[in-house]
Amino acid sequence: MEIKKILVANRGEIALRIMRTAQKMGIKTVAVYSDADRKAPHVRFADEAVHLGNSPSSESYLNMDKIMGAAIQTKVQAIHPGYGFLSENAVFAQLVADNGITFIGPKPHAIKVMGNKLAAKEAVKAYNIPMVPGIEESITDISLAQTVSEEIGFPILIKASAGGGGKGMRVVQEPSELPEQMERAISEAKAAFGDGAVFLEKYIESPRHIEIQILADNYGNMVHLFERECSIQRRHQKVVEEAPSAILTPQIRAAMGEAAIQVAKACDYVGAGTVEFLLDRDKNFYFLEMNTRLQVEHPVTELITGMDLVEQQIKIARNEKLGFSQQDLSIEGHALEVRVYAEDPLDNFLPSMGTLETYKRPEGKGIRLDDGFEEGMEIPIFYDPMLAKLITYGKDRAEAIQLMIRAISEYKIKGISTTLAFGKFVCEHQAFTSGEFDTHFVKNFYTPELLQQQYAEERKIAAMVGLKLFLEYKDKLKVPGSENSNWPLKRTQ
Ligand code: ADP
Repeated sequence: MEIKKILVANRGEIALRIMRTAQKMGIKTVAVYSDADRKAPHVRFADEAVHLGNSPSSESYLNMDKIMGAAIQTKVQAIHPGYGFLSENAVFAQLVADNGITFIGPKPHAIKVMGNKLAAKEAVKAYNIPMVPGIEESITDISLAQTVSEEIGFPILIKASAGGGGKGMRVVQEPSELPEQMERAISEAKAAFGDGAVFLEKYIESPRHIEIQILADNYGNMVHLFERECSIQRRHQKVVEEAPSAILTPQIRAAMGEAAIQVAKACDYVGAGTVEFLLDRDKNFYFLEMNTRLQVEHPVTELITGMDLVEQQIKIARNEKLGFSQQDLSIEGHALEVRVYAEDPLDNFLPSMGTLETYKRPEGKGIRLDDGFEEGMEIPIFYDPMLAKLITYGKDRAEAIQLMIRAISEYKIKGISTTLAFGKFVCEHQAFTSGEFDTHFVKNFYTPELLQQQYAEERKIAAMVGLKLFLEYKDKLKVPGSENSNWPLKRTQ
């Protein structure tokens, strides 16, 4: 099937990232944009751009009819949904197909099954995949929940079946807390996802979040591209990711890879997808969920495998066979990613909105920056506050970490607070460098005071460097235009 033009139904860094690969493949691109994104780089980069409407997502990037209208108007053969927005919406994938356009992603059936945590558990049941102990159906009856929880053993986790983005989860430490937490979880799930179904899972005490990237073509060929470690999280959401994981043995890696392929088979998966697992202290792994799209953190996999995942997605959408098998794939080097969110790590990671007064990118060998903003731009309040992804690649983990620390210090952002300083904090922390950490890194090791100390240290070093330079050059320092004056002396007069 020929794809000459692709509409990218997204914005920001991911829209640009997808368009770059399309351009490399000789495919034309169409951007869509809202009022807030009129001047965004992804709009300028594309060959054509279609205005969708007002800034709120419901009137722009989440509006299926407007996006379909833009696709029909610009006569594209395919739509790439990116991540977020409509990327995991089975109704949209079907609508695209019904209009004779290729949806770059899996079939609606796979999106639907994996979009619901309970349906996903049900689908993989027959495939011998290790799952977190718990119940695999929706529960509303409190006394039944009590019996089940006693069987599973506290602490337990109440999860919303339709949940996503780390939302809709409640940890219950003791039996007495259960009734209230159940009620809250159900009403929250209803409000947030329009679906009140919740279920119970064993709360794994010290888990690591490790996920496997898979690729599947339309001919039944499936491979995995190893793991990504995503345990550094705040609010159950990832902030720092890496590949490979510091702790997987080749045996566990192979077993998780095989399990991920089985999960993908369970829903007839086609395209690029990610199977998420939790790994407990004893390195037992449990299936968590499958994300049926390109992940934010996909670049770390690209760097260690040398594979362009968007290119693979497009090739699969063109009905091409995978050009390699599992034996052809191997891990080379180590990659690290820090998500740059417009958030204040000194203030509970709350969104920090404003204008990018200064925006200077770090550059150099081993540094990749996926971003979608420029100096002078305002960060719109309407969308996800992620500005960019800073990725480093080294021959080993220590090198990637060192490079990240350097890249963060060279990345200058002023006008808003970001998670960059937090990324540096992580990279310098012994728990991270040693590889001995879990999803509770923030809770266990991070306080705003520690970050403030880091700032104070940096200021001190900067002041000392300044003083050293001053002492070295003080005889040569002159105020421009007043040739004979030594300005520090003048100023004190
Ligand atoms: P979402 O779809 O909202 O992202 P996930 O099921 O993928 O939810 O879980 C997100 C994060 O929540 C995990 O990475 C992990 O940190 C935590 N989590 C989920 N399930 C459990 C569990 N059973 N025990 C401990 N932590 C969990």
